[in-house]
Amino acid sequence: MNILAFFAHPDDETMLCGGTLALLARAGAQVHLLIATRGEGGENGDPPVCPREKLGEVRAEEMRCAAEKLGAASLRFLSYVDPLVGPDDTLYAFTEDEETLVSELIEVLQSVHAEALISHGSNGEYGHPAHRLCHRAARKAIERLGTRALLFYTIQAAHPEHPRPRLANPQDPAHLILDTRSVHEVKVAAALCHRTQHALFVRNTSRELGCPVTVPEVIRDWESLHRVYPAVTRLPVEDRLAILLKSTGCARDPDKP
Ligand SMILES: [Zn+2]
Repeated sequence: MNILAFFAHPDDETMLCGGTLALLARAGAQVHLLIATRGEGGENGDPPVCPREKLGEVRAEEMRCAAEKLGAASLRFLSYVDPLVGPDDTLYAFTEDEETLVSELIEVLQSVHAEALISHGSNGEYGHPAHRLCHRAARKAIERLGTRALLFYTIQAAHPEHPRPRLANPQDPAHLILDTRSVHEVKVAAALCHRTQHALFVRNTSRELGCPVTVPEVIRDWESLHRVYPAVTRLPVEDRLAILLKSTGCARDPDKP
């Protein structure tokens, strides 16, 4: 099965759904990654891993490392530049030209013969404008292609046992819950690739616990998916992505223990 996973920044693929992508690759899917920016506007490490002007280049390399660890079949970047984080940690989208983004996404979906698209949730996980932009573009691309053969799923779907409720997209109920413990080491290895982001990964947890934690200690093992298109209340048995994930023994419906 050909799957396109589309995210705003390097590290979204790993920190938000790395276990899911690793399970899909392990189950035999061709997972193609498309990242809109090189994360130029993010942090460059504490202490800095590289000068700020090199950040895009370094993060692209980190992304290549993570894609390989996750078992991705290919990695592409769009040519958007991630805007710098503003005062008071204000976050921004990377373009106002949503139509061009939709066209570019359609082109990649067609070139990899995608049968499923996985992208950000409707609330951009924690409201990130760039994640929400990718979600809207994904939704429009799917509508425009208008083929029921192409499935669209979003990450960080909401369910009562979500391990980090702050990241759950409240309007996206979970259709599949994934136990990613069997690919924990893969997810950790991919997270370790994103060296410029390590300080960011551990900051909140370290603050909450009042002591420094390491990157492997903040990697969570439960992930979830919401199927946006075709819209359903419960996943039908013939859903090909669910069949593939269930073949790993690591996926379940949300109402089953
Ligand atoms: Zn992001």
